[in-house]
Amino acid sequence: KAVLVCGGTGCTSSGSRRVIERLKEEIKKQGLEEDVSVVMTGCFGLCALGPIMIVYPEGAFYSMVKEEEIPEIVEQHLLHGKVDTKYLYSETVKGNMVLPLQDTPFYKKQKRVALRNCGVINPEKIEEYIGTGGYEALGKVLTTMSPEDVIEVITASGLRGRGGAGFPTGRKWQFAKDNDADQKYVCCNADEGDPGAFMDRSVLEGDPHVVLEAMAIAGYAIGATQGYIYVRAEYPIAVERLNIAIKQAREMGLLGKNLFNTGFDFDIELRLGAGAFVCGEETALMTSIEGHRGEPRPRPPFPAVKGLFEKPTILNNVETWANVPQIIMNGAEWFSSFGTEKSKGTKVFALGGKIHNTGLVEVPMGTTLREIVEEIGGGIPGGKKFKAAQTGGPSGGCIPAEHLDVPIDYENLMAIGSMMGSGGLIVMDEETCMVDIAKFFLNFTVDESCGKCSPCRLGTKRLLEMLDKITSGNATMEDLDKLEELCYYIKDNALCALGQTAPNPVLSTLHYFRDEYIAHIVDKK
Ligand code: SF4
Repeated sequence: KAVLVCGGTGCTSSGSRRVIERLKEEIKKQGLEEDVSVVMTGCFGLCALGPIMIVYPEGAFYSMVKEEEIPEIVEQHLLHGKVDTKYLYSETVKGNMVLPLQDTPFYKKQKRVALRNCGVINPEKIEEYIGTGGYEALGKVLTTMSPEDVIEVITASGLRGRGGAGFPTGRKWQFAKDNDADQKYVCCNADEGDPGAFMDRSVLEGDPHVVLEAMAIAGYAIGATQGYIYVRAEYPIAVERLNIAIKQAREMGLLGKNLFNTGFDFDIELRLGAGAFVCGEETALMTSIEGHRGEPRPRPPFPAVKGLFEKPTILNNVETWANVPQIIMNGAEWFSSFGTEKSKGTKVFALGGKIHNTGLVEVPMGTTLREIVEEIGGGIPGGKKFKAAQTGGPSGGCIPAEHLDVPIDYENLMAIGSMMGSGGLIVMDEETCMVDIAKFFLNFTVDESCGKCSPCRLGTKRLLEMLDKITSGNATMEDLDKLEELCYYIKDNALCALGQTAPNPVLSTLHYFRDEYIAHIVDKK
């Protein structure tokens, strides 16, 4: 038997390390060490139910496991083979039967590509990654494909950047390849900073090697020998596992010199971000890696021409990288067989807010918000009504109930005034004040503005003051027009995407929930 216990940040904070220790103690006490292995994995997705463990071969899914329940579970289940369903996640129990997790409403509509190994392998053991086909794509690329072939497959797959803007990944790689230079770089943006977003953290914690493998593939494709992963220092588990993964990959000759005996060299170093949201912006991130204050710089030149240390550079985020090895192994057609016409593949969302199943989900592009909220997310607690969902964090917008059936992809979200962003999805119920939501996000932007340009540094502050005036009952209807006007001024004049998108939460709530702004003015509260 194998007991898989989630060792991601969510379950760790709810006590999964103690569960693992206790499991090992009890297994030893019962003399089961030869028969039962305890495996610490990454995130299973159902973060609200942590600590989580699954016992195989039965696939029994234990949720909210308490340390004091372990002796009974070990004795009954692991020693005597009797599964006590009272400890199992209720959705996996029908009478006395244990149902596979994949058949539960939370998992049924999901398609796990980027999260393929999360909750499946021990991320601290390279052997387990290799055991699930890891590093085969790198081997295939280095021994059977030309750099042009690699870029062709990635382009044909339709993969677009999962960090927010949705730029075609293959095209970005092609630009960098086309620029001759003595040195080029491959970067991974792991500086996930949107409030409520934890997609990239979960991939790094659950499957760090997939990012290393993908970056090496890109290095070969564009002619780079050095990669950098820029990861938030606030993600200590991810940092630890990346360090372990890099060390193991070097020891096995999968990073470093002469990979697969082909003469191709590629290595990766980590750089820790100090928590500035703006360092998720690509030029600020590169400036920070170079050792300077993390401030954006004007584009053009774009990084594919003049990026890190002024050399051609590609930067993709963690989720984008996590798709690459499988596209190489399964082909472009396989990847583009799911998703919508212009948005191929899947998207990972961090589901949070007023929703039953807070956690990590991965669905084919084109899944509707209703499916995510009502079926996968299990709906709104307390029988309350859905009011809106915020996608794209502080750069995104609120989607009201009338758009619940819009298939989610890059274009559709833009059309309804939001954006995909990196994948934070915060659900709000009927009791949420949408002006407060706009204020919350704007507060965040004001804090995180780097101050380099005045439209953002001063403009967002003035926006926040105007929102304060509205919620304190001191505004007039004229102020609403001024608010809107300032939003567009900031959008048009700020230097980087942080400032250009900062007004979005205000604009989208003004568009869909103007009556709430007016209520604050008219009712003076
Ligand atoms: Fe800095 Fe904001 Fe200007 Fe970007 S828009 S450069 S974050 S001040």
